[in-house]
Amino acid sequence: MRLDKFLAHTGYGTRKEVKVLLKKKCILVNGAIITKGDTILKLDTDTVTVNDEVVHYQKFVYLMLNKPGGYLSATEDNHQQTVIDLLDADSQRFSPFPVGRLDKDTEGLLLLTNDGDLAHFLLSPKKQVHKTYYAKVVGVMDEADVKAFNEGVILEDGYECLPANLEILSTAEDSSDVHITISEGKFHQVKRMVLACGKEVSFLKRLTMGSLKLDENLKLGEYRPLTDQELNGLK
Ligand code: URA
Repeated sequence: MRLDKFLAHTGYGTRKEVKVLLKKKCILVNGAIITKGDTILKLDTDTVTVNDEVVHYQKFVYLMLNKPGGYLSATEDNHQQTVIDLLDADSQRFSPFPVGRLDKDTEGLLLLTNDGDLAHFLLSPKKQVHKTYYAKVVGVMDEADVKAFNEGVILEDGYECLPANLEILSTAEDSSDVHITISEGKFHQVKRMVLACGKEVSFLKRLTMGSLKLDENLKLGEYRPLTDQELNGLK
């Protein structure tokens, strides 16, 4: 693999940024200063250092974010903050993107990666990856709603949702706390399913995506790399 490609894949910047590092003679291969980006590396035997730090090969990044409200699930926007703004510069260098979208006001589990194949796989409608949400609902959800979810809620535009699971956690006089599990990802799907039952979501947080569970140790806005076990569970 070319040295500039290797460094771009390991988070040291675009090829242009890598060129600057090369020019500054910060990059050594097996102890020798290298200034040419097209130098070919043997990945299994060559040791690359940048500013005396050994670089370990990493092409993809997989991050679990506890998304706070107020951020768009997008990579850039001219007016509003995106989830990418929550990442430090080292993570941003990998050009990660969110796998699927959470609404601006939705919190919780969001996977960010630069692995297009994995994202495609997880978002494929055929794959029907299950996603579980915690929702606070204005209005009381009841057994009729549980049945409607099981049978396939019909949205206001006539779309019949795939069977979904509604678990009522608690109810008060005019509100319910619920868990909702869906296996598709239509626009505003959970909110629209609840609306179709004549109630309204006032708070939404994603808890799981397939086998991946939100790490409750992550505070809002915090993120961490997936463990190997978490990553393998998704593939
Ligand atoms: N369903 C919604 O309505 N909003 C989300 O953010 C995710 C699922």
